[in-house]
Amino acid sequence: MFKARLSVVCGRVQPRPAKSLVNAARTFTSSAPRSKQRLVILGSGWGGYEILRAIDKKRWNVTMVSPTNAFNFTPLLASCAVGTLEFRCAVEPVRRFSPQVACYQAWCDTIDFKQKTLKCMPATAPLEFEGSASAPLAGETTKETSYPPGTGNGFNLRYDKLVIAVGAYSQTFNVPGVKEHAHFLKDVRDARAIRTRIIDCFEQANQPVLSDVQRRNLLNFCIVGGGPTGVEFSAELHDLLHAEIERHYPSLARMAKITLYDVAPNILGSFDKSLGVYAENKFRRDGISIKTRHHVERVEKDRMFVKEQGEVPFGLLVWSTGLAPNPLIQSIDCLQKHDKTQSLFTDQNLNVITNEGHADPDVWAIGDAANIKGQLHPATAQVANQKGKYLAQKLNKIVKDQEHTKPFEFQNQGSLAYLGDWKAIYDRSSADTVKTKETGRVAWLLWRSAYFTMTLSIRNKILVPTYWFLNWIFGRDLTRF
Ligand SMILES: Cc1cc2nc3c(=O)[nH]c(=O)nc-3n(C[C@H](O)[C@H](O)[C@H](O)COP(=O)(O)OP(=O)(O)OC[C@H]3O[C@@H](n4cnc5c(N)ncnc54)[C@H](O)[C@@H]3O)c2cc1C
Repeated sequence: MFKARLSVVCGRVQPRPAKSLVNAARTFTSSAPRSKQRLVILGSGWGGYEILRAIDKKRWNVTMVSPTNAFNFTPLLASCAVGTLEFRCAVEPVRRFSPQVACYQAWCDTIDFKQKTLKCMPATAPLEFEGSASAPLAGETTKETSYPPGTGNGFNLRYDKLVIAVGAYSQTFNVPGVKEHAHFLKDVRDARAIRTRIIDCFEQANQPVLSDVQRRNLLNFCIVGGGPTGVEFSAELHDLLHAEIERHYPSLARMAKITLYDVAPNILGSFDKSLGVYAENKFRRDGISIKTRHHVERVEKDRMFVKEQGEVPFGLLVWSTGLAPNPLIQSIDCLQKHDKTQSLFTDQNLNVITNEGHADPDVWAIGDAANIKGQLHPATAQVANQKGKYLAQKLNKIVKDQEHTKPFEFQNQGSLAYLGDWKAIYDRSSADTVKTKETGRVAWLLWRSAYFTMTLSIRNKILVPTYWFLNWIFGRDLTRF
């Protein structure tokens, strides 16, 4: 985990830390012809990747800056973490659009809105050459998604138009030990680490030298956070335990336990109340223990301390308690932000708003890193993706000198959550039109068809149903390599 070293220059000189990255930064501008306007997209997630897909690459000189060279299809990560799907199913390569698009696997550390320049640090492995000053980088809050230090040599990029789509980090509420000892589920690397850990737990517990108490501790799977991610992961894990684990480790399966913790009185608080109750009842029937109104106070290696319960040993702890602001966004001090979430305020055209109250015509912010002032949209892929689509349309008009003044309007298509055993919930009760709710098999069919439809490349449109089918017939793959 590398700490961010960030500063955002808002038209005035900012003092830099003593060992400044500026000294190491190389001025570097995109090599594409200057006749085209330079559009830089920060972040290859739901918002940024959608723009990358839909932008007119012949008219724009497009540069993507992201610490990962792939887009993560987050709704399928819980399935990948237990082997219902293979990891490839949940990623799309950013370089699919090369050579029309310049891609840099790097962190954007600083935005100078006045000079229209960005300072970036490579997120690739360090180069071993003399004089390379290793510098800390803006890293994920998770140990599994931390990136290796770059070369130490940053580079500058110029932009004419900028899209900020850097998302958010995992929230830990500063609970000691979480970053060090818990697993997060934010990208495919996290999913891989979780899958490896689950299999490790069973292989370790299977060793003849262990006592039953040690085995039970190893096979205690704790999930903190009763939102959709925590619930879906618990459900997928339950499916795994009651299918392949029962077959492959019959004597250990009965020792395994899943517990879902939340400080709130109920899980799935963002869903209609009746659907939350349905989910809780289903989990209780399935033997998933729900501990609401529970507060994790400290996490250590292989154990956590819960205020209402005392010491709880675990084999795997998955932490999913919401979003924390991205350090790049946190460091921006010349733009208006939401008091609580610290996300950037935008107007209805998604332009960021300066502290003086003006919309910056050349900078847009979308996804989890932004919110329209006066509106509160959920931090979901649905919102990020719709904003990405809207903005790509706008940019494609702008590049042709055409007007695009229609404000962004969110179309609520409802929320889905998988509950295990081919059952799910679907909530469209807060949509403006066609208010509806579904539970059970029908909702599960909606869940699968929605995510199959949203899958982007033809390759994944083939891979996703193929793995669903293969794993249904032959079971999930439990090999560890
Ligand atoms: C496990 C899981 C399941 C989910 N399931 C659903 C679901 O079913 N439905 C739904 O609607 N939503 C779901 N979500 C929420 C959804 O994924 C997010 O709301 C969405 O990803 C936000 O999109 P974004 O583009 O703002 O950010 P992200 O998708 O998080 O992308 C941010 C990008 O910015 C990059 N980045 C970060 N810092 C920098 C920097 N300094 N410089 C350059 N790049 C940077 C990151 O590497 C990443 O590529 C889920 C989330 C998770 C974690």
